[in-house]
Amino acid sequence: MLFKSHGGVHPNDKKAPANEAVITTIPQPPEVVIPMSQHIGAPCTPLVAVGDEVKLGQKIGEAKAPVSAPIHASVSGKVTAIAPHLNNLGNMVTSVVIENDFKDTPAETMVPATEEDLQSPEKIADIVREAGIVGMGGATFPTAFKITSGWGKVDTVLINGAECEPYITSDHRTMLEHPDELLKGIQLLMKACKVDKAYFGIELNKKFAIDLLNFKGAKEMGIEIVPLKCQYPQGAEKTLIKTITGREVPPGGLPANVGCTVFNTFTAYSVYRACYEGWPAIERVVTVSGSAIADPKNVKVRVGTSMQWVFEQTGGFAKEPWKIIMGGPMMGMAQYDLEVPCGKGTASLLAFSDDEDRTVADPVCIRCGQCIDGCPMNLQPIYMYMYQQKGDVEMLQKLNITDCVECGSCSYICPGRLHLTHAFKTGKAMVQAHMAELKAKAEAEKAKTEAEAPKAEAPKAEAPKAEAKPEAPKAEAAKAEAKPAAPAKEEKKEDK
Ligand code: SF4
Ligand code: SF4
Repeated sequence: MLFKSHGGVHPNDKKAPANEAVITTIPQPPEVVIPMSQHIGAPCTPLVAVGDEVKLGQKIGEAKAPVSAPIHASVSGKVTAIAPHLNNLGNMVTSVVIENDFKDTPAETMVPATEEDLQSPEKIADIVREAGIVGMGGATFPTAFKITSGWGKVDTVLINGAECEPYITSDHRTMLEHPDELLKGIQLLMKACKVDKAYFGIELNKKFAIDLLNFKGAKEMGIEIVPLKCQYPQGAEKTLIKTITGREVPPGGLPANVGCTVFNTFTAYSVYRACYEGWPAIERVVTVSGSAIADPKNVKVRVGTSMQWVFEQTGGFAKEPWKIIMGGPMMGMAQYDLEVPCGKGTASLLAFSDDEDRTVADPVCIRCGQCIDGCPMNLQPIYMYMYQQKGDVEMLQKLNITDCVECGSCSYICPGRLHLTHAFKTGKAMVQAHMAELKAKAEAEKAKTEAEAPKAEAPKAEAPKAEAKPEAPKAEAAKAEAKPAAPAKEEKKEDK
């Protein structure tokens, strides 16, 4: 039985014709630009220097922070630069540039795990961590951290196969072309998470994939395929959990708070490749589609390949592109430079012509309330927008703006064409900045108090010395110092 979740919208899925074409491999680019930050968390430290020869799959970026994932070379060749480069979020990020030698010489580390290793949750988590696997649907949260932080809390694994964003079909094609590998990947995730049961939620517009995975024996592996109605954002973590298990993640909470953990379809496939083939996260199936694209399709792309190269190798544009998006049309990021490289979480590259332009000169709220009805997080977008425009951070916090998953449903449904989601991204940043400011203030006050404290307590430390030396000339001083030490003795008694 499925449970009802709040909100949601129904955009045309526009998945044909890309969902009918088999995944193809495009020629490799002459160079790749690999950002040292392709995950939530601190960027990696480069492990190579300009002039170094590197092998395919060699670790080139070390992740020292826990919520971080190492980076690997996606081609073999020579490092020609280590310098800041524009990434998909519009930031300049330290990146390693590799001139491709087109030999694909594999690193010695690219070996499958042993069957013995694959029986141990800890070993699987280590392999996933070393392979640099992150949420490949675009969230880029390090998968190993998600696994280990759920130990003792999680009893249910969910696999997000909804692929609810319009146009994107890369997960769908992966289900159709790699069903056995995918199911094995899910089994590995179940073992790593120390649970026996997984639910694989797939929208009904992927009926062949649902039938195929059932035919391949998903049920016998402890994996229940759950057909989901087509609704955006069916694949949002909290929505998926509510729909499949009926459990509700509290505001500000995490899936683990209700015993669940969610992985993307391509993440599960990547776990299979890391464990059974020794492949780190250096390749992604990418959907290339949109009204400006000549020949929509799905292609295998090495991490670090520029968007320009992908568009050129897939047939280019049929019309002048007006907007280019990395990711889906609802949650993806608009791009202004085609030299931006594809990353681990790049599920699609979309190009739209200007007949898709729906912006208006003067967006106006007509108080229809549709944004409230459509919000899957049960938020109140109309008021959040109002207080964001006023810069009222306290009200934004009261309205739980940080629970906004930036799904874009409110912007999509809004007849006034207000830039709601963009305002909420800015609003969340305002709240984060405010919280950071409060934290810094609190820490400064604590440090000040601590700096002053030792002066006041100094006589206590002297007291035992005075007691240990009952010399006549110092007796008066010892009495005077012994008094302040008394409370410390009392505390010791209470401790006992
Ligand atoms: S959907 Fe748009 S126009 Fe309607 S209430 Fe929300 S913000 Fe206003
Ligand atoms: S973008 Fe945020 S506020 Fe808008 S519908 Fe999605 S979760 Fe709700």
